[in-house]
Amino acid sequence: QIFEIHRMIIDDEDLFDEAESMILDGYSASYSVREASEKYGSVFASMDDEYLSARAADIRDVAARVIGILEGVSDERDERKKGNEKYIVVADDLTPSETIQLNRSEILGFVTFFGSPNSHTAILARALGIPALIGTGNIPDRCDGATAVIDADKGLLYIDPDTELLKNYEATIRREAEKKERFDSLRGKPSMTQSGRKIRIYANIGGAEEAALALENDAEGIGLLRSEFLYLGSDKCPDEERLFEAYRRTAETMGNREVIIRTFDIGADKKIGYFGLSEEENPAMGLRGIRLALSRPEIFKTQLRAICRASAYGRIAIMLPMIVAAEEIRSAKRLLAEAQNELLHEGKRFDREMKVGIMIETPAAAVMSDILAREADFFSVGTNDLIQYTLAADRQNPDVAEICDRVREPVMRLIALVTKNSHNARIWTGICGELASDTSLTERFVEMGVDELSVSPPYILPLRDKVRDCK
Ligand code: PEP
Ligand code: MG
Repeated sequence: QIFEIHRMIIDDEDLFDEAESMILDGYSASYSVREASEKYGSVFASMDDEYLSARAADIRDVAARVIGILEGVSDERDERKKGNEKYIVVADDLTPSETIQLNRSEILGFVTFFGSPNSHTAILARALGIPALIGTGNIPDRCDGATAVIDADKGLLYIDPDTELLKNYEATIRREAEKKERFDSLRGKPSMTQSGRKIRIYANIGGAEEAALALENDAEGIGLLRSEFLYLGSDKCPDEERLFEAYRRTAETMGNREVIIRTFDIGADKKIGYFGLSEEENPAMGLRGIRLALSRPEIFKTQLRAICRASAYGRIAIMLPMIVAAEEIRSAKRLLAEAQNELLHEGKRFDREMKVGIMIETPAAAVMSDILAREADFFSVGTNDLIQYTLAADRQNPDVAEICDRVREPVMRLIALVTKNSHNARIWTGICGELASDTSLTERFVEMGVDELSVSPPYILPLRDKVRDCK
């Protein structure tokens, strides 16, 4: 996408005409390109919109490449290289096109003075797997030609490290490489325990664009699509078409793998202006999740219609957040039936067998799970909220984070109860909260009989490795 934009800049007629008319006035080609792009770059740079003003850097990046070609400039970086030694690039800044042109077989990593962890350069570095320290605000003088270590996990740069430190890092690099090789070898392999029990390992994603990342990490499905992000990223309520397109794209990307769409969980820490929510004393215990959805039936039905329509393009299931009582599930299903009836009359296709599950993220839902199982096709435990409501410890408050880490047993017992109740009712239980990726708990989850674990994509292969080690 970054380079699609560069291509559009290259093709831009105004920029081209401006440079051409200067050439016709007798200026050199490279001077004309520099002037024309500076003019357009500064127009973008002065825009209020953060996204558009950041495009100035793209215009300059494209112009620098064109000028380099016009002037026949060779790659200076190569001239500094000594023999076959690998090196770390240290620069004021790197553009995305410079980053993508770095020769992966020669580069160990890079350090830049400017830039931010969210810049395109940083995103590219992560995608390419290049260790990088970006925006250090400090480049030591004596780095040229020196031996150095970049610890990108900790954000540290060591110049001329002593032998002890070097040895430790060499050992770390070897361990990481072995781990990566082991995880890579697990692609396409089943997530099966030693005794032959299969645990499904799904991915948590925030939008259609992350489905590819889930597949890259060999997710067996999407266990939680946090659908509220599409609402949070808009200044008005997204319409049915927009929602439908996003869900259809996700379903198509995942092919015959299941995609569980959680209906919008807005409220608490995810407030949206156009919902007109009033101030609450205790937002985490207020109008959020299914409560808000049922209080805005028109908005909720629009989402349900979009999900139903997308269900014709893959294996979609619906999941309801923040359930505390069976009546909420029945009300949501009534709205779903209305949406399906409308679509039927409009001649629109949808999957009539689409499953409807619920999140278990309140103690009420956990202890009533035997009753709720009569209304739900599956359970998925949202441990992030289940922990905060069980331990009365706000998930946003760093002062009580330690309690959430230390006091595990109450939530573990609830998960065991939910799993047992679900199996008695012949439905399955998964976990989609952060606890699912804690591999120190995997063995216990397997013992409890948990059927599915849904985690952020980078955790999938390490978790599969762990599951395959379980009894
Ligand atoms: C959870 O509560 O564990 C969960 C998965 O939902 P969210 O983190 O989006 O509240
Ligand atoms: Mg939750």
